[in-house]
Amino acid sequence: MSKEKIALFTIFGGTGDLAKRKLYPSLYRLYKKGFLAEKFAVIGTARREWTDEYYRDIVMDSINGLAESYEHAAEFASHFYYQSHNVTDIEHYSTLKKLTETLDEKYQLEGNRLFYLAMSPNFFGIISQNLKDGLLLTDSGFNRLIIEKPFGHNYSSALELNEQIRASFAEDQIYRIDHYLGKEMVQNISAVRFANNMFESMWNNRYIDNIQITLSESLGVEERGGYYDTSGALRDMLQNHILQMVSLLAMEPPTRLHDKEIRAEKIKALQAVRLFKPEDVPHYLVRGQYGRSTVNGEHFEGYREELNVAPDSQTETFVAGKIMIDNFRWSGVPFYFRTGKRLAEKGTQIDIEFKNVPLNLFNDNSDEPLPPNVLTIYIQPTEGFSLELNTKKVGLGLETETLKLEQKHSAETTANSPEAYEKLILDCLNGDSTNFTHWDEVASSWKFVDIIRQAWDNETIDFPNYPSGSMGPIESDLLLTKDGFQWHWCPTKE
Ligand code: NAD
Repeated sequence: MSKEKIALFTIFGGTGDLAKRKLYPSLYRLYKKGFLAEKFAVIGTARREWTDEYYRDIVMDSINGLAESYEHAAEFASHFYYQSHNVTDIEHYSTLKKLTETLDEKYQLEGNRLFYLAMSPNFFGIISQNLKDGLLLTDSGFNRLIIEKPFGHNYSSALELNEQIRASFAEDQIYRIDHYLGKEMVQNISAVRFANNMFESMWNNRYIDNIQITLSESLGVEERGGYYDTSGALRDMLQNHILQMVSLLAMEPPTRLHDKEIRAEKIKALQAVRLFKPEDVPHYLVRGQYGRSTVNGEHFEGYREELNVAPDSQTETFVAGKIMIDNFRWSGVPFYFRTGKRLAEKGTQIDIEFKNVPLNLFNDNSDEPLPPNVLTIYIQPTEGFSLELNTKKVGLGLETETLKLEQKHSAETTANSPEAYEKLILDCLNGDSTNFTHWDEVASSWKFVDIIRQAWDNETIDFPNYPSGSMGPIESDLLLTKDGFQWHWCPTKE
């Protein structure tokens, strides 16, 4: 059976950063692998007045370095068409409809339409409505809508946005991107759990002491200060990526590894996340903002000195916290997380700390417990696993030492592993929504985050409170030490 997928892609925001950096290269990779062949076309739309030729040059530039040959790249780019278009102008949808129908016929696209909204979420509602009113949705093939984050800035704005979109698209036609779900090792969480009895049988509060999720960025806000200052780490990272990882780690085994079954379990896990009372927020959450500092002779400005950031900004660039899941499997097990900008090292990893043996038989003279067994899942930039075990030190005594079994994908494997966007676009072409977020997940996540946001907005904090190049404010360490734990990953000590 041919693996070729047949579709017309209409990319709103076709001149933007996301389209150029991620979407065109991902489409090219799918082309190279034969998932896209003859029967596909792309309409790029945005406000600028570009010709098809100019647009194709831009597409060719964006796949520079990936292309097999100039001819192959040119052949790929010949499937691209540009339509200057203001998304708020209804007139433009009739021009778009004509082009859509022409391309549908020319490339025999069977009425399969994928609309990618790579632009500000303010426009999602109006575009969906205009697509429907402008009769751009087909009866003969599929209609699928991919939308980018952020999906609202709190529960009520997300609900409003969802209702606007749902007026034109059904839930199963909506693909809400969380590019973390396209990452190889995030998808591997299910394999570790459900393909290894050794782990799945221990995946509960009898054997796991705590789980730690770290999404650490070494860069600051760069040129995105204006956007970031209205968002902050809580909305930018916790509401989506971190809670999505928590749901994959915490969900019950699905009956099948199919989208409906997996989503149902993820939703149940998210609904079991304990909602804090506003007065509890300081006990469970820590926020931070980076200040200026000099690391290895290099000077870094503080967040408040960044371009388009208010000099008295109260926006958090770091958040750490403790999530509790109130169900039989997880009762009493803290899921700690931390994420921030300008931290010591870039990296995303999950550390699962198992409970200790009841007694340390190897050390008669002290109450020191043995170090815990830790399973680490490295998500980026390194991909792989490690498992820490206690073994006997070679020699006459009975001293123990930690043995770290480690498997890290080689740079070559990582470079060849599909890009998150490539996987997600292919999933959408296959009608597989496993790795996209369902509205019920979005709703539960916002309800959790809103309580924290409201508690924080009622209080001014003395920022900055962590130097660039550290792992966040000291309170992030205290969050764990008061429970008798510590962050497993400590790049500043390595
Ligand atoms: P961008 O500002 O680079 O591009 C926006 C695009 O929208 C441009 O093509 C612009 O011409 C077009 N546009 C704006 N107003 C328009 C109008 N009225 N009519 C027609 N076209 C109009 O933005 P971006 O960085 O590409 O981000 C797009 C979306 O993707 C945003 O929702 C962003 O949050 C999300 N996102 C981006 C990235 C990234 O890496 N850039 C990563 C994750 C999510």
